[in-house]
Amino acid sequence: MRIPLWSHLTGRSRPANPFGERWQALLRTAARTPFYARHAPTLRHAARATTEEDRRRALLDLPEVELDYFYQHFRLFMPAGRAVPSHEPRSIWPGESRVAAVSPWFHPGTRARLFLHPDLTALSRFAPEVIAAPVDTLHALAARGGWPPDSPLFALVALTGIGTPLLTTNLRESLWRAFGVPIYVQFRGFQGEWLAGECEAHHGLHAHAGDAMIERRSSGELMVTSLSNPRHAVLRLASRLHAWLDMRECGCGLAATRLQDLQHLPATAGAPARTGLDSLAALAAAVGGSRSHQPAASLGAR
Ligand SMILES: [Zn+2]
Repeated sequence: MRIPLWSHLTGRSRPANPFGERWQALLRTAARTPFYARHAPTLRHAARATTEEDRRRALLDLPEVELDYFYQHFRLFMPAGRAVPSHEPRSIWPGESRVAAVSPWFHPGTRARLFLHPDLTALSRFAPEVIAAPVDTLHALAARGGWPPDSPLFALVALTGIGTPLLTTNLRESLWRAFGVPIYVQFRGFQGEWLAGECEAHHGLHAHAGDAMIERRSSGELMVTSLSNPRHAVLRLASRLHAWLDMRECGCGLAATRLQDLQHLPATAGAPARTGLDSLAALAAAVGGSRSHQPAASLGAR
């Protein structure tokens, strides 16, 4: 089995100051949205922040956005005119691995192929080295069983996001039993953009400042500011996810903050239960996530 060098995921072509560039791009995009129109002076002030600390302080002057509000009013967060990506999205897997992505979000590279349905036969014929799919889709694949033991597969990437299934300990074990390869969780935004991800130490999700700014409410709820979503500029989005922020250096040697014990917050009394938005793909479609492929939620993945 090949051991992936996770550190490669920091990318070879990242700009010298990705945080600064993406921060500026995000604020420019936000300024073109209806929601942030009345916050234009605050956005201009925030754009002058040059250090990470200044940016974090500037963020506090902008309103928090509750998740239900975002779902109900997502068009308010879409910029007028064409969405311009602030940077090349981070790939699913570094290097030249043969990747099967069961998700409508990613632009597969030359050695990757996109599968819109978790068809085990088609997948195993492709003989991927890495399968990347939403957690519920991986669950469905594992439940069907029969993955060929002689396949070149060496890793699974479990995609998760705001409002989507998380990888539980039990599910991680069942994926291990079904595929016999390590599983790497990637926490992705509404456009599939990278927010945080697991390294080979499998001890929390590394959140790099250049990808997303993550705050934590006193309740433990994470507020996420994605720096790389060109379609919806939303700052300080209350995620309904709970985690604690681990500032200690990881066993892999990276010092980036890690999200530990990522869990859904229990539904608040009286709040409508959010059903149907139970996969990344369904969520992407619900918030205008572009390509209208059949959502994974309808693939019988539960
Ligand atoms: Zn690590």
